[in-house]
Amino acid sequence: MANFKTHLLVASTLSGVAAVSVVSTQTDNIEAAWRYYLLGVIGGLLPDVDSDNSIPTQVLFTFLGLTAAFWVLLQLYWEYRWFYLLAIWLVVFAIIKFVVFEAFARLTVHRGSFHSLLAVVFFGLATVNVSYFGFIYPAFDAWMHGFFVALGYFIHLCLDELFSVDLMNNRLKRSFGTAVKPFSIRYWPASTIMLAATCALYWYSPGLVLNRQLAGTVEAFQDSLFSFANATISSLTALRIAVLSSAANW
Ligand SMILES: [Zn+2]
Repeated sequence: MANFKTHLLVASTLSGVAAVSVVSTQTDNIEAAWRYYLLGVIGGLLPDVDSDNSIPTQVLFTFLGLTAAFWVLLQLYWEYRWFYLLAIWLVVFAIIKFVVFEAFARLTVHRGSFHSLLAVVFFGLATVNVSYFGFIYPAFDAWMHGFFVALGYFIHLCLDELFSVDLMNNRLKRSFGTAVKPFSIRYWPASTIMLAATCALYWYSPGLVLNRQLAGTVEAFQDSLFSFANATISSLTALRIAVLSSAANW
């Protein structure tokens, strides 16, 4: 299994390259390239939020707790005195950071439903909707944000799969085949919730009206993504066959 450092390194390198290539097609500016780059890195770290003690999980729940606590505080600002406000702030933060986190940790299993292609689509579409409705970005930007999170996420899954092959010993670790899968059958309740949420997100996501230049860029992107995915899947399959046959020969 690839560790946090490897994920961070590969995610930042590849999303950097991808962001620069988008800018070089003249459809975007430097500021957008930074956004894409950061979202690609976040996408590359996101899958391991299902590992309860991982750095991304701790950071995510601290961030969510702080955000929720300040949001509630701003709603109640005029109604209470400061010591009540402080207490409310602490309670909201503690609920998110400990109670919600505990529930999340029990519901998710590491390398369960979060390590699947369904999760790639789910987090991509979630980003599209949050960008469009939450941060009021135009539809094209929102879709690009979603694309970069999905790209980072997909790269993470491929890395996990590659690292589950012990290249020196020609053996497969037990984790082989647990990262890149369409969805998790074993943890089907979580997968079902995720599938329903993905459909809802797709339904709500903004339509994309493209002018001809943008349409060309998106098409080129789709083509390169498709061939990248194809190449990854066929090389993983070839690797699997090679490892399995050499293991059988022993
Ligand atoms: Zn992982």
